[in-house]
Amino acid sequence: MLGIEMMNGVKVSDEMLGTFAPIIVYWLYSGIYVLLGSLDDYRLHTRKDEDEKNLVSKSDVVKGVLLQQAVQAVVASLLFAIWNLPLCVLVEFACEFGDLLGWDVIGIRLLKYFFDLSGCALSSFRGCVLCSIQRNAAVFPSVVNGPSHDYIVGSGGLNLMLAEVVITGSDSNPAHAQVTSLIVLARQFLVGMMVLDTWQYFMHRYMHQNKFLYKHIHSQHHRLVVPYAFGALYNHPIEGLLLDTVGGALSFLVSGMSPRASIFFFSFATLKTVDDHCGLWLPGNLFHLLFRNNSAYHDIHHQLYGNKYNFSQPFLVMWDRILGTYMPYSLEKNINGGFEARPSKEYKED
Ligand SMILES: [Zn+2]
Ligand SMILES: [Zn+2]
Repeated sequence: MLGIEMMNGVKVSDEMLGTFAPIIVYWLYSGIYVLLGSLDDYRLHTRKDEDEKNLVSKSDVVKGVLLQQAVQAVVASLLFAIWNLPLCVLVEFACEFGDLLGWDVIGIRLLKYFFDLSGCALSSFRGCVLCSIQRNAAVFPSVVNGPSHDYIVGSGGLNLMLAEVVITGSDSNPAHAQVTSLIVLARQFLVGMMVLDTWQYFMHRYMHQNKFLYKHIHSQHHRLVVPYAFGALYNHPIEGLLLDTVGGALSFLVSGMSPRASIFFFSFATLKTVDDHCGLWLPGNLFHLLFRNNSAYHDIHHQLYGNKYNFSQPFLVMWDRILGTYMPYSLEKNINGGFEARPSKEYKED
């Protein structure tokens, strides 16, 4: 399993970082917004509104977010473990199969096939292959003892495929490890964004349409009529699992990103979600330049009049536009300071 070595020599796997880095990012980024403090000229609602309209205290929000993050961390760790398990079993099986045939072309092709198939759990796959190769040192003395490159050059086409597997998976050969081009990474991020947005749009919208789900689950998030950064993930734990954990797992699996890439993807998605709830319209905010889905756009959804609109989250506004739930807004100066996001078309009452 690939990982990153910490300062004290403890190695943390990419899977662990993929689970915990977004939690750290969440509190760090929302902490910055807390430190920025009184930016009354850039708020989307006044402090008075925040105190009067919100239906939950800040301490309860912190507790709720921590509970949700704990539940999600446990479930995400289990998902990673379960996802890696069958692949390891398959690889072990393939290795044994290769042993029987003296590691001939079928065994090696089978390994290569699973290797390609398991793009999203490459690290675990590599670990298994390397383990098996070490166990089979007698069969592969040159791989285990000799320089891998010599092995490729000195062997025929059959062993080249195997060497490809071995070398790409070798932790001791960092130059060859994790050779993922930026284009591939960009494609995986884009696919991940589309999958996450699609999942979240339909689940989110359904949580509003289904009165039971709204009353017992999603209304918790809407207790914050005036959102603020560290309230971004103030959700019922079931909502956290359904929207974020399942959505995250789907975007991870469909995009084929590596666990290491997922650390950055999920951290980025977390930053975006926190920013969308920051309650501020700060000049030069990069998220506002890059995305139409931003703090003002999502603020509309948090208002009573807006909860049939702007379901899209966290990245694009695509599904709202396609399915007619897009509510454009204009940013007006609030006479009491700051701004106000006002819907710029008629909205339907209940
Ligand atoms: Zn909602
Ligand atoms: Zn929200």
